[in-house]
Amino acid sequence: MFYQSTRSDRRVTDTAAILEGIAPDGGLYIDPSLSDRPFDWKGCLALSPLGMAEAILSHLLPGFADMGGLVRRAYDGKFDSDELTPLMQVGDDYVLELFHGPTAAFKDVALSMLPQLVTAARVQEGVKDKIVILTATSGDTGKAALEGFHDVEGTGILVFYPDAGVSPVQKAQMVTQVGANVKVCAVRGNFDDCQTGVKRAFAALKGDALPAGCRLSSANSINIGRLAPQVVYYFIAYAALLRRGAIRMGEAVDYVVPTGNFGDILAGYFAKLMGLPVGTLVCASNANRVLTDFLETGVYDKRRDFLKTASPSMDILVSSNLERLLFLASGGDTALVADCMKKLGSEGVYRFPEEAMARIREDFAAGCCGEEDCLRTIGRVWREQGYLCDTHTAVAMQVAQEYKAARPEGRKTVVLSTASPYKFPAAVLKAIGGDLSGDEFEQMERLAAIAKVPVPRGLQGLRERPVLHTDVIGADELVDYVARQLG
Ligand SMILES: *Cc1c(COP(=O)(O)O)cnc(C)c1O
Repeated sequence: MFYQSTRSDRRVTDTAAILEGIAPDGGLYIDPSLSDRPFDWKGCLALSPLGMAEAILSHLLPGFADMGGLVRRAYDGKFDSDELTPLMQVGDDYVLELFHGPTAAFKDVALSMLPQLVTAARVQEGVKDKIVILTATSGDTGKAALEGFHDVEGTGILVFYPDAGVSPVQKAQMVTQVGANVKVCAVRGNFDDCQTGVKRAFAALKGDALPAGCRLSSANSINIGRLAPQVVYYFIAYAALLRRGAIRMGEAVDYVVPTGNFGDILAGYFAKLMGLPVGTLVCASNANRVLTDFLETGVYDKRRDFLKTASPSMDILVSSNLERLLFLASGGDTALVADCMKKLGSEGVYRFPEEAMARIREDFAAGCCGEEDCLRTIGRVWREQGYLCDTHTAVAMQVAQEYKAARPEGRKTVVLSTASPYKFPAAVLKAIGGDLSGDEFEQMERLAAIAKVPVPRGLQGLRERPVLHTDVIGADELVDYVARQLG
């Protein structure tokens, strides 16, 4: 098997795809044969969570020599649940909690594994260069990547976050990060400014412009090494439903996924292509409803205002992973995909052919949830079920409710929960009518007293930890800053 670019017939091994991150033609790497290669999905469901991870990742990335060892090093002792991603029953629904890793957001599932994959790929490909990870973050990716890569041999990591764009908790998590190979820097501007600066750094710092002995890579979900580990928890959820007798083997289950970059939900599609009985994948957007509109109309149009919402990790107008779905739905038509992406860059809009859209709608549905509904949902679920969820999860809960109301005889539904409510204490307290006085750290304590669930380990004592990173730069200084750090 091989990985192929979505924009050309460029083919590479899985280890090379992970080191490159993105293809030189700008495309994303994908396995075009995933649905044709047999996978013992039933056997997989009988394994332990780490056993499932090993089986699934060995299938997706067969070029890695010791996947079992990599999986154990990634997850052993790092998550506060033996199930890795525990499934909770909340009313008639099931909520898959993906936030039990070191930084209390779902990105830990992938970013615990990615450093293992990068270092193993580096050894297998005989690369001597240090791999430096450049990351722009709106809050969650940065901390999860720092946690994954700090003090990992042969790697370095530079994280850029928008000065005024992350929550106090998220900022405290990043600026207190320890590690000899890490650097965290604030950028005056918003997330798009950070992202643009990082893209410019990738473009400027290659070939002779790159200091000898290092190369750049990405920890964003354009890297297939970010996506593959996320396939695992779709199986974990299905196995948990089977064990509880909630479903029969083979019964289709719907998954509702709060998404921005289309990464998390695409991983669910990969699970389906591997045989898991996934029914409909419901794409839940916040007020930035560019994906909902696309799935409804077939027109992807980013020419709209960027809205800052209470679910900031989904505030995205250019959903990079959708490109992989376009490739699959068009039967691998790389010219079509390249043309759509070119139009998106130059005109800000493209239309996807109707017959391919029809294929997409066989597997995907979409819904969106505005700001008021998001907070109302947190309040309702707390009052009715005694379950506290974060703002991103609430978007999916609300979309799930509407989706099911339209299909009374529907299937079992799993809602993916992507962050701990303690990561967004102000919004959550407001939603349940709690006292909003004090800073976010005091609010977190108050929330814990109300919910009677302890604050996750990674968020405890944040305020007392020493601040280690104080650099602040303008977006136009970012390329020079990276060059200085590399040199
Ligand atoms: C990143 C993130 C998402 C969206 O994930 P996608 O990769 O865009 O699908 C949702 N919720 C939280 C809390 C996140 O950090």
